[in-house]
Amino acid sequence: MEELFRRYSSWLVSRYGERTYRVAVDAGFSCPVRDMGAPCAYCEPGGSRAPYLAQGGSVRDQITRGIEFLKGRYGARGFLLYFQAYSNTHAPVDELRRIYDDALGCSDFKGLIVATRPDCIDRERSALLGAYRDRGLDVWVELGLQSANDETLRRINRGHSRGRFDEAVQLLHEYGVEVTAHLILGLPGEGLDDAVAGAEHISRLPVGGVKFHNLVVVEGTALYEQYLAGEFSPPDAERYRELLVAAIEHLREDIVVIRLTCDPPRNVAYAPQRLPDKATVYRQLCDDLRQRRSRQGIY
Ligand code: SF4
Repeated sequence: MEELFRRYSSWLVSRYGERTYRVAVDAGFSCPVRDMGAPCAYCEPGGSRAPYLAQGGSVRDQITRGIEFLKGRYGARGFLLYFQAYSNTHAPVDELRRIYDDALGCSDFKGLIVATRPDCIDRERSALLGAYRDRGLDVWVELGLQSANDETLRRINRGHSRGRFDEAVQLLHEYGVEVTAHLILGLPGEGLDDAVAGAEHISRLPVGGVKFHNLVVVEGTALYEQYLAGEFSPPDAERYRELLVAAIEHLREDIVVIRLTCDPPRNVAYAPQRLPDKATVYRQLCDDLRQRRSRQGIY
């Protein structure tokens, strides 16, 4: 059956001939805005780290554990190395090279994925990442845009503009590095038009993938204080459903959709309380698109 949007799982199989899995690591990087004591207003202290990384250990230990886990649970055979936590280009280039090389030497990875911020990408770092392509690896950078609206970016304290994101994407593209953009749907002050604007904006750039996140307001963040003060409400499940459909319909049809929703945090308070799981969000999106006789990129 024809897919109504470009799913990452299908893309992985067409690219590598089999389901291929991300091995997430926390290499101990920090983040410039966290270092300055002014993190993004929604950022939880773990910096978007996968829960299983809480066990810590060296990068080599994390890779060994991650691969064992993925083999045991899914019978995985193909792996992509994923530097996930915080800003993984926020260090001198020689140090980055040493860390990436050391980690890549731990297994026969098919690709390298590096999550970072637009203001942690410059020509030197783009060239370093591009050089891994010459070694036969697929190289992707996950870059947070979150919103294409500069006013929202200021309000959530992102510390960069839409223009800075665009510059980083163009630089990485110059060196053959693929980009996955992150967009949060339902940020304070934003509505359907902004969800559409975000999708349309990345569709005009050389972006190969997108991760959509629903806004989850977590205890301990600046947004949580604003939420408690009644200054805004994050979208509930029904509202997020509308935002996601609109964004997908305005997303360029070749962009791979890597995520549709985020996992709720563990052991902390958050809002909205009732979040559908990933399978439900996927099913609802397919239902909605089918019902509207629609698909990714129809607009
Ligand atoms: S860039 Fe990422 S890690 Fe840094 S403050 Fe923002 S969300 Fe947190």
